[in-house]
Amino acid sequence: MRRFGLIPAAGSGARFGSPHPKQYSLLAGVPILRRSIEALAAGVELEAIFVVLAPGDSLYARHVGALPGVLPLFCGGGTRAQSVANGLAAMSERAQTDDWVLVHDAARPCVDAASLRRLVQTLQDDDVGGLLALPVDDSLKRAAPDPPLRVACSERREGLWRAQTPQMFRYGVLRRALESAVAAAPGDEAAAVEALGLTVRLVLGSPRNIKITHADDLALAEHLWAQVAELT
Ligand code: C5P
Repeated sequence: MRRFGLIPAAGSGARFGSPHPKQYSLLAGVPILRRSIEALAAGVELEAIFVVLAPGDSLYARHVGALPGVLPLFCGGGTRAQSVANGLAAMSERAQTDDWVLVHDAARPCVDAASLRRLVQTLQDDDVGGLLALPVDDSLKRAAPDPPLRVACSERREGLWRAQTPQMFRYGVLRRALESAVAAAPGDEAAAVEALGLTVRLVLGSPRNIKITHADDLALAEHLWAQVAELT
């Protein structure tokens, strides 16, 4: 069974607030996107990594450049789900129904090799797939719609997990899931697969595997990345 990486990197990163998409901001001197590609490639053996970019992206060639086994696809869509769906369609000549696809955020450069190995080993005989995730530790509050910043109620955290990436699914399952769910813009691949009525497995991730979303996350990510690099 073969494994492929797929990195959707066609977002604008509006919440990050930089003039260029956040995946091109530097983490320890190298673009975040390149760090995420390298982290994925270092932790697990992959046939190829496809990187889904916005059509007309001119920054990738300049800031990331040619990497062995990494193929840019200029077919990003308006949502993450659409970008992943377009990427899956574009790789159809390479992947077969039962092959695995590891979908990884461009903004998660701190994923560690131990988590990646755990994901692959846990799911190797599964028919569907699953994702790295962490149990929720904090207590949870639901905000009232009005007035703002007031607690409407507390929610039970038992049984709740925070989804990370990679999310690893059989190519055929993932294509089918996204074809039917893309209009609803699911937040991640697992949500699309769940909508088919299939059971998605949870695999313990690492608290270091943060997603860089806001500009303030960058300093923390640099710190965590250095820790992960030392472990590898
Ligand atoms: O915006 P957010 O960080 O949640 O995006 C998660 C991932 O999805 C990022 O890697 C981003 O580049 C990607 N994305 C995409 N196409 C979009 C929106 C987001 O590839 N239209």
